[in-house]
Amino acid sequence: MILETLEVGPFMSNCYIFGDEEAKEAVVIDPGYEADRILMTLAKHGLKVKNILLTHAHLDHTGGLKQLKDATEADILIHKSESIYLKSSPMQALAFGMKPTIAPKADRFIDEGDTIKVGQYVLRVLHTPGHSPGGICLLVEGKGMVFVGDTLFASSIGRTDLPGGDYEELIEGVRSKLFPLGDEVVVYPGHGPPTTIGQERRYNPFFG
Ligand SMILES: [Zn+2]
Ligand SMILES: [Zn+2]
Repeated sequence: MILETLEVGPFMSNCYIFGDEEAKEAVVIDPGYEADRILMTLAKHGLKVKNILLTHAHLDHTGGLKQLKDATEADILIHKSESIYLKSSPMQALAFGMKPTIAPKADRFIDEGDTIKVGQYVLRVLHTPGHSPGGICLLVEGKGMVFVGDTLFASSIGRTDLPGGDYEELIEGVRSKLFPLGDEVVVYPGHGPPTTIGQERRYNPFFG
C-alpha cells in the first residue's frame, strides 16, 4: 500500500495519494492546489491515476483539479449534491481573493455504499453531509483507514456555516456512520494530522 499525504495550498488542505504498489494504480483524494507536486509524487512511485475522488467541492480541495485532470485524464468522482459547488469554483476563488479556477465537470457521481477499486484495495463511500451537502468519507475496506474530508478533524469538526451546511446533520453522520467503524480505525482528515475513531469518540469536545 502507498499512502502519501501532501499538505497543499494556502488553506493547508490534505491531498492524499492512495495506491497499490503492485498494480501501480492510485486514486488522488482532494487535489487542492499544487498539482505539480501531486504529479511528481505519483511519478516517483510510478503510479497511474484511475480516479480523482473529491470528499466535497470546496475550492481548498479542488484548486488543483483541472491541472491534474488534464495531465492524467483520470475520472473525477463526486457526490451529485456537490456538482453545484464544483461549478461555483471561480466564485469561490474570488470570494477568497484568489485567481479564479475553473473546475472541470464530474465524470461520475458516487453515493452511499458505492465502491471504488484501487488495485487490490476497495474504497467504500459513506455519505456524511453537514459540512457540505454532498460530503463523503472513503473507507478502505478491511484496512482500518477512512478519509473524511472536512467532516471530522482531530479534536474538532468541519464548519457548518457555509452554504448547505448543517450542524445536526454533521454530528449525526459522524455518530451513525464513522463511530461504528471501530475505535482503532485511523482517520485521515482534510486538514491537520491523522487521528483515530476512538480518540475522537472519547475526547473530541463536539461529541462529549
Ligand atoms: Zn470544506
Ligand atoms: Zn477544507
